[in-house]
Amino acid sequence: MEQAPAVVVDRLTKRYGARTAVDGVSFEIARGETFALLGPNGAGKSTTVEMLEGFRTPTSGTASVLGVDPARADRAWRSRIGVVLQTTGQAGALTVREVVAHFARIFPDARDVDETIEAVGLTEHAGRRVAKLSGGQQRRVDVALGIIGRPEVLFLDEPTTGFDPQARRAFWDLIRGVAADGTTILLTTHYLEEAEQLADRAGIIAGGRLLALDAVARIGGAAARTPIVRWTDAGGRHEVRTDEPAAVVRAIAGEPADLEVVRPSLEDVYLSLIADTEPEEAAA
Ligand code: ADP
Repeated sequence: MEQAPAVVVDRLTKRYGARTAVDGVSFEIARGETFALLGPNGAGKSTTVEMLEGFRTPTSGTASVLGVDPARADRAWRSRIGVVLQTTGQAGALTVREVVAHFARIFPDARDVDETIEAVGLTEHAGRRVAKLSGGQQRRVDVALGIIGRPEVLFLDEPTTGFDPQARRAFWDLIRGVAADGTTILLTTHYLEEAEQLADRAGIIAGGRLLALDAVARIGGAAARTPIVRWTDAGGRHEVRTDEPAAVVRAIAGEPADLEVVRPSLEDVYLSLIADTEPEEAAA
């Protein structure tokens, strides 16, 4: 029998006074899947995730994580999920090993402390105070604490904001390892590439609404990914959307210097989807 989804969200809505932060969002995440909620600042990503973590109560709609309503969850449920919040809040005076060991004692079936520190690439810093680490290294401590209890579902809220490209790549490898262990992951990010690198499926959210939901390679639908051929000749600038770009190129007379064939990326699809939504500053 196929396992029930790890996460089921149905018309989930959160209002703060007159502002609707999350507006009727529905999606499911299968067991073992990595799902990205992708959207600009103020889109409603964190609010959605915090409702799934049981930290905020929905105004309407329902959420279920591992078959449980997070708003009514108990300790047993909490020990089956892992949370990496947006901000690091670790006691800076403790060493990496002390913090991880402290968290390990909370969980019934915690991972080995040193193995976990190694998994996040901090073995050589295990004896250092968390406060002395770089931002990227502190984020790794957050992930260590998120996975120490062997969570079945891991929530990662904008895990690489502020990382340099090298630290981001190393972090992606770490998350791929966690996913390979069978952990279901819900990632929020405003980095397109992060979703492309890590997620099986993604939802694009803006203004609290889910605008698209699909496998990362298919999001926006086939039409949105149709190749575009562009070139300039005596007749001016041409742009043709076609499923047969090679045939179009063959039919072009001469050798236009600016000839190009582009396949719209997730970024192109994303930008066209969110183009019609108000940025947060404008809406405020
Ligand atoms: P994201 O994580 O996508 O950046 P958030 O979920 O943090 O977006 O915020 C969604 C919207 O809800 C924003 O307009 C934000 O200002 C608003 N919001 C978030 N938390 C609160 C709150 N506690 N009170 C009032 N408005 C809030």
